[in-house]
Amino acid sequence: MKRFDIIAIGGGSGGIATMNRAAEHGAKAAVIEGNLLGGTCVNIGCVPKKIMWYGAQVSEALHHYGPEYGFTADSVSFDFATLKKNRDAYIERSRNSYKGTFERNGVEVIHGYARFVDEHTVAVNGELIYADKIVIATGAKPVQANIPGGEYASVSDDVFAWETLPASVAVIGAGYIAVEMAGVLHSLGVKTDLFVRRDRPLRRFDSYITDALVAEMERTGLTLHTHKIPQAIEKNADGSLTISFEDGSQHTADKILWAVGRKANIENLNLEAVGITTTASGHIAVNEFQETSVPHIYALGDVTGEKELTPVAIKAGRTLSERLFNGKTGAKMDYRFIPTVVFSHPAIGTIGYTQEEAEAAFGVEKVKVYTSGFTSMYTALGSHRQAAKFKLVTTGPEETIIGLHGIGYGVDEMIQGFAVAIKMGATKADFDATVAIHPTGAEEFVTMR
Ligand code: NDP
Repeated sequence: MKRFDIIAIGGGSGGIATMNRAAEHGAKAAVIEGNLLGGTCVNIGCVPKKIMWYGAQVSEALHHYGPEYGFTADSVSFDFATLKKNRDAYIERSRNSYKGTFERNGVEVIHGYARFVDEHTVAVNGELIYADKIVIATGAKPVQANIPGGEYASVSDDVFAWETLPASVAVIGAGYIAVEMAGVLHSLGVKTDLFVRRDRPLRRFDSYITDALVAEMERTGLTLHTHKIPQAIEKNADGSLTISFEDGSQHTADKILWAVGRKANIENLNLEAVGITTTASGHIAVNEFQETSVPHIYALGDVTGEKELTPVAIKAGRTLSERLFNGKTGAKMDYRFIPTVVFSHPAIGTIGYTQEEAEAAFGVEKVKVYTSGFTSMYTALGSHRQAAKFKLVTTGPEETIIGLHGIGYGVDEMIQGFAVAIKMGATKADFDATVAIHPTGAEEFVTMR
């Protein structure tokens, strides 16, 4: 039987990072993966999505902003097959880069799906593998709403396999994936309609930001439909799909895309064999040390439902390996002030409390906010003016910054440094004491009054 100090079930960002760090500290480690190394983020998530988003930006530059800067590109055409080919090749190169690191660190890759046999043993392709410690990092997958005909619709995984772009897509959902997919498809020329079941998308974001997003959707012709609760989907003779909503309305599109959330990949792990506790939402329950209910078995990343973000899985995994193999007793992932970006049009960046959350947590009188709204300079020359809206949320007499939110051109590359400052406890006075970089959008964050 193969024996290891630690194994990761799942070769996505979390499992890979955890095993590399463990091996760097001398552990005999292996990653078990039945599909492509890199998991969701690299293969069917962040990376291909970001390339599509960049493609959308190229399109906007060619069609909207280029002419305003005096460029004419009369016979511009778009070949989606080229974008897909180059995107897939980039991803292949990313995947291959894992091999070098694994070889340097001595991490073994085992191809296959693992099932628990007992607390220290898993079976992969009929072979038993023993490990002192086991990390479950199997991620999550998109769900379909449970309505008649729901299976006719696509999920985000399918979008990355599309060889051609459909003429029209109805996106159903209101989270990151719905907003990002709708924005990219719309910018690449697909007639796109976004259907949310309540009053707006990204409901948990600061409303100052989502109001601006909704206004931008309206300005650019991405049609947002609110209060639409899906009821059934029917397939038409021409292959198009018609979705009916509870209010009696219907909408027909070439494709319908579910973006209504994700569920943990735990079905085939045989968790019953070891009695690992799961949560009501079907995720693996962990404490702040990524420990499951079973000693020596840990879980991290999307399978735990904790902040489903690649860098969170990576950080949680590296922290775990530092604790287990580098004597950093007490080391644990800090889930406060995690910065995140929605690659919408324009991008949204957010750190910490929204105004609504801060007021609920500290009381309205203890929260002071600062806002700034302007037209992003890059877009300001002609008729395609894009709004930017920034907000700081502070609390206490020192006006400690506990929330930073922005939507606008370049926000995606703006907020990482601010996250450092906020994590260090920066106050409004610290921001004000910082000299602005002019002319940039980011300077608004240090000049708000
Ligand atoms: P989310 O859970 O974030 O959003 C799905 C939303 O869809 C729900 O919040 C809900 O919004 C709506 N919804 C749920 N069920 C239905 C239904 N039956 N009919 C209509 N609408 C429904 O899921 P995502 O899949 O978008 O994203 C999962 C996670 O992945 C994110 O939370 C994020 O952490 C991560 N992610 C991060 C990205 C990034 O960092 N850029 C990009 C993509 C994903 P409501 O209640 O308002 O109706």
